[in-house]
Amino acid sequence: MTLSKRTPTSSVPPSAIWHAGMLAKGGARQCGSGRTAGSIYVEAGQPCGGIPVEQFLTDAPWSVDPDQIHITPMGVTLLEKDGVTHILDWVGSEHYEYPADFIEEARRMGVSRKIPVGTNLSGITPQSTIMLLHKRGSVRNARAVSAASSMLCPSGQHKRGEDCAGLHWVIPGQGGTTRRQLTCGTYEVTPLPPHAPDPEYVPAIFMVIPISALTIIRNHDGSISAQAQNAVERSGFMPVIVDL
Ligand SMILES: [Zn+2]
Repeated sequence: MTLSKRTPTSSVPPSAIWHAGMLAKGGARQCGSGRTAGSIYVEAGQPCGGIPVEQFLTDAPWSVDPDQIHITPMGVTLLEKDGVTHILDWVGSEHYEYPADFIEEARRMGVSRKIPVGTNLSGITPQSTIMLLHKRGSVRNARAVSAASSMLCPSGQHKRGEDCAGLHWVIPGQGGTTRRQLTCGTYEVTPLPPHAPDPEYVPAIFMVIPISALTIIRNHDGSISAQAQNAVERSGFMPVIVDL
């Protein structure tokens, strides 16, 4: 499959092998209490060579039509762009209500996403990225919301009144609080004044981050899933075996 949507002009690095081998943290996340034995996880370890997570945001986000790129909220999709295969993963809003929930967790723990063991990983190399999509990834009325808020552009490119990844932190309905609670901690949100329009969300790719490792979680009896090992060995990565 080829990604035909508009291409980035923004701050996403095209490739990076500088953090290959770095691992994300295990343990509880928004999406569950921990990783599962025998599974494969695609990871982008943190800190990504000391580069802040903001540098991996699409700014402004790339809005997409999920039907057009044949992606559903279940599973992952492989995308080819400029001869490199990438993993497109839909971040579920039942666990991560807003993209900022995911971004802030990634800042603390890195990115670690379970992928089906049957996935064909033969095109995955250190040039590959994880492209993360969320149903609230972009704001249709971005200019109006941006103009009404005290949004800050994470990449220093945009002013208030422009579409910007900074809108991820402009979260309505916080009940007056300016901090949002996650499993891994809290983070600060940008208040939306009462007169501001409500954001109208559309699906978008909000983060593109280089893959640093493909990790297999060891089975409870200490063995390693042969199916998972075979899948990872088809990729350009050596499997990293991690205990639960
Ligand atoms: Zn921006």
